[in-house]
Amino acid sequence: MTSSTSAALESLREALPGRVINPDGDASASGSADFTTLTNQPWSSTCWQTAAGYIFPENAAEVATALSIIKQTGIKFVVRSTGHNPNPGFSSIGPDGVVLDVGKLQSSELVDDNNGNNKIAQIGAGNRWGAVYDWLEEQGLSVIGGRDPGVGMGLLLGGGMGAIPNLHGLGTDGIAGFEVVLSDGHIVNATPQENADLYRALKGGGSNFGIITRFDLHTHPLIPLQYSITLYNPTDYTNINRATLNLQETMESDPKLGSFTNYQPTFVAVGLIRAGDEAASASEGEIEAFKPFDALESKMMTVCPTTNGTIGSLAKAMTHAVGEDKKKHIGTLTTLPSETLYNEVNTAWREALDLLPKDAVLHYTIQPVGSACVREGEKKHGGNVFGLKAVPQCWWVFTVEWPRESTPEDDEAARKSVNYLREKVEAAAKARDQLLPFLSATFASSEQPVLQSYGVENVEGIRAAAQKYDPEGVFQKQQAGGFLLRDVK
Ligand SMILES: Cc1cc2nc3c(=O)[nH]c(=O)nc-3n(C[C@H](O)[C@H](O)[C@H](O)COP(=O)(O)OP(=O)(O)OC[C@H]3O[C@@H](n4cnc5c(N)ncnc54)[C@H](O)[C@@H]3O)c2cc1C
Repeated sequence: MTSSTSAALESLREALPGRVINPDGDASASGSADFTTLTNQPWSSTCWQTAAGYIFPENAAEVATALSIIKQTGIKFVVRSTGHNPNPGFSSIGPDGVVLDVGKLQSSELVDDNNGNNKIAQIGAGNRWGAVYDWLEEQGLSVIGGRDPGVGMGLLLGGGMGAIPNLHGLGTDGIAGFEVVLSDGHIVNATPQENADLYRALKGGGSNFGIITRFDLHTHPLIPLQYSITLYNPTDYTNINRATLNLQETMESDPKLGSFTNYQPTFVAVGLIRAGDEAASASEGEIEAFKPFDALESKMMTVCPTTNGTIGSLAKAMTHAVGEDKKKHIGTLTTLPSETLYNEVNTAWREALDLLPKDAVLHYTIQPVGSACVREGEKKHGGNVFGLKAVPQCWWVFTVEWPRESTPEDDEAARKSVNYLREKVEAAAKARDQLLPFLSATFASSEQPVLQSYGVENVEGIRAAAQKYDPEGVFQKQQAGGFLLRDVK
């Protein structure tokens, strides 16, 4: 650790007693676990970097104090919500900087919206989706958020793909307002009425402007769901793809439908979801749109039987293992739906499997998004900056997971497998004019040009907001990573 980093930490400790943890400091500060638990919190062990210190502010004023000292001392920093982003340097940093962890911002409050219609859920930035759903569902309410209970609110900054994206849009589209700490120490609200330019830019522009301390989300009366997760044999990919595309087509006339199709080497996991009272009271096999999957002979087993539940109970059913130490690398693309393309992706994936190092797993997911999802985003609360086309589309996620005890050659090979697959899919989609520009920040690797994918006009809006609300460029110069304007040439 350099002397300037030590001095910055000393200032942080003085100003925020009990909120800063560093290797030589008070490990019991903030009631947190030991230092290793903090360094090893991120989902991907590629991000298990040891920072000079971890700051745990407990309210927006403490975030402002921490940010002022970070700015004054010029120290490098990252903001962490729950660290599920697997890009090193986004919510993790090495010994030359500090992690500002918003995990202690655990507030949750229900307030009336301005029109006295629906309630707004004011959710501290340190909450996780599982806790949010539990709290709201007890009160007969739903919000649109993530599909894994352990993931945090950071998901909202890059889109927020939920279980039923076509019904009320993306998670981001349901944001009524943000509480933001700016680099000058001011705590501001960003809503369609107040700092409206910042509000819009934050809906996709991510970590370019300030630290979000609270997300205010529009709630809906409890959304009942019916869902199931079934495994199929991957050799039957042509029929599985056809069934996926049939369902995707039906989604255009039925926005209550959602699905995912995740290809793994030994199985294909298909999640089928329908919202609404009639779905939740339907008996097994009754939902017409799911019948092409019921007819598949390649069914291997049911991992989640047909269940009448909620967004929260579905998230619980989709819980990923916690405490895994695998390394991960991801990538994304957006394309039009197409049977030829979906089959070509499968062929490219099988080619990419040959590039993998020992004990690595490469998998990919078809995430259908309908035109209704995009239209919801456009019409709701001033829109977002994603620049999405209102057409049926697929948000692809390519993921490789490999052992932590790997050689640099293994690391290189693992990353190459995802990049190979991504490039093949991109070329195939481009050749048939089926490639869409959008890249989802929540599923992209750090080298993908996410902000540029939103289009020139949206980037200009993001840039103008960043210049206005962070005129000295603290978030560009001192933040270690993220999809930042400094990388948009
Ligand atoms: C198991 C798993 C399930 C997932 N499921 C979904 C899903 O259903 N839908 C979906 O859309 N995505 C999903 N994702 C992707 C996920 O949305 C992204 O990885 C997201 O970045 C993680 O959010 P986080 O809260 O952990 O943020 P972090 O990883 O902590 O941070 C991500 C980025 O946001 C910034 N950031 C976080 N909080 C703040 C803040 N308060 N203020 C300013 N900047 C901040 C960080 O600096 C960083 O750049 C999933 C990922 C995993 C690993």
